[in-house]
Amino acid sequence: MPSGEYDSDAVESKWQQQWLDDDTYAYPEAATDPNTTFAIDTPPPTVSGSLHWGHVYGSILQDIVARFERMQGNDVFYPFGYDDNGIASERLTESELGIRHQDFDRYEFQEQCRDVCADYEEEFTEKMQAMGTSIDWNNTYQTISPDVQRVSQLSFIDLYDQGREYRKKAPAIWCPECETAISQVETEDHEEESHFNDIAFELVESGSEPDSDAVADGTDEDYEYPTPTEPGDDIVISTTRPELIPACVSMFVHPDDDRNAHLVGGTAKVPVFGHEIPIYEDDRVDREKGTGVVMCCTFGDQTDIEWYQAHDLDLRVAIDESATMTDLAGDYEGMSTEEAREAIVEDIDDAGQLRDRWAIDHVVQVHERDDVPVEYRVTEQWYVDVLDKREEYLDAGREMEWFPEKMFTRYEHWIDGLEWDWCISRQRSSGIP
Ligand SMILES: [Zn+2]
Repeated sequence: MPSGEYDSDAVESKWQQQWLDDDTYAYPEAATDPNTTFAIDTPPPTVSGSLHWGHVYGSILQDIVARFERMQGNDVFYPFGYDDNGIASERLTESELGIRHQDFDRYEFQEQCRDVCADYEEEFTEKMQAMGTSIDWNNTYQTISPDVQRVSQLSFIDLYDQGREYRKKAPAIWCPECETAISQVETEDHEEESHFNDIAFELVESGSEPDSDAVADGTDEDYEYPTPTEPGDDIVISTTRPELIPACVSMFVHPDDDRNAHLVGGTAKVPVFGHEIPIYEDDRVDREKGTGVVMCCTFGDQTDIEWYQAHDLDLRVAIDESATMTDLAGDYEGMSTEEAREAIVEDIDDAGQLRDRWAIDHVVQVHERDDVPVEYRVTEQWYVDVLDKREEYLDAGREMEWFPEKMFTRYEHWIDGLEWDWCISRQRSSGIP
């Protein structure tokens, strides 16, 4: 029977070292059949800061499974990775060293990223070993390592050869904070406070004679604003993003909207900015909302993008890659989108063209890493076809066992919600070339 106080530090580090020296959890590669191996595909922790309790929780669950399988006599492959390429580790490097990547040439900045990540990775290793997880420390990898770069490049070529990859200059989801294109799965919905603004555009000319019966039907109390019929009349639209008005390229009405049908083929004048825009019809307009007339800007949302492509509209870029107003925004050039939003509403009000304004809570799409609302920018990016395989992905999901089961529902929603092919290119300094 040992006597004296239990010295946990000494005892634990002795055994942790012993497990490493003995390769206790090493995967016996030569002696095993990879087809019967129990492989644990660990999502490598992102090197974006120190490990936190979420990592402790996740790795203990994995470790329980790994140990259980070993006790059943199975060969267990349990590697460990460090996710140290791309946005997250670049941002860590910038904040750690108090620098901006723009101030360095690419290779210099990459070196700094490698140095900062190396320190954090050492800390990851120490912490994971101190927890006594049964990871195979002979099998570690970094997502920026030459090996992983090669696998990634080979996979890129493979998909290209299969015709499942394409490069397109088109509107892409863009994070103005990270100044890069991102994929749809990197976005999240956020509830935010905002305002709806009812803004009057000026009818320049109609496309045809108004249907007087339909216009008369439209004068009852269901409608807050009278139907525009004469040049100079108000065409009222509602928007939460008045800063996009300099980027307004057209208006739309629904093809079945008899009340507004005469506007189609006509033109309207944009308040404050003064440019004239065409009025078209499209069945993607929600007739039940507001006056039934909507504006299309390049770009406020997915529908704007669809209209831009379907009707071959002009491209007006009023917001640059860092969400700063461009020279197209005139007096508002150099303002942030938030500043421009307030300033433009004020000026529209001063011009007597703000009809109403009220507070709302609404959902905006943000980048999951920084909660910054995304924009849409026309840039050249690489995409992998995924939308045509949705059914296959769902079938594959049905063949798997899910713990807990509700995670399958989450997967299903995720696949059903895919609206974009997978954008795989990023505008980064430290990524996979
Ligand atoms: Zn971002």
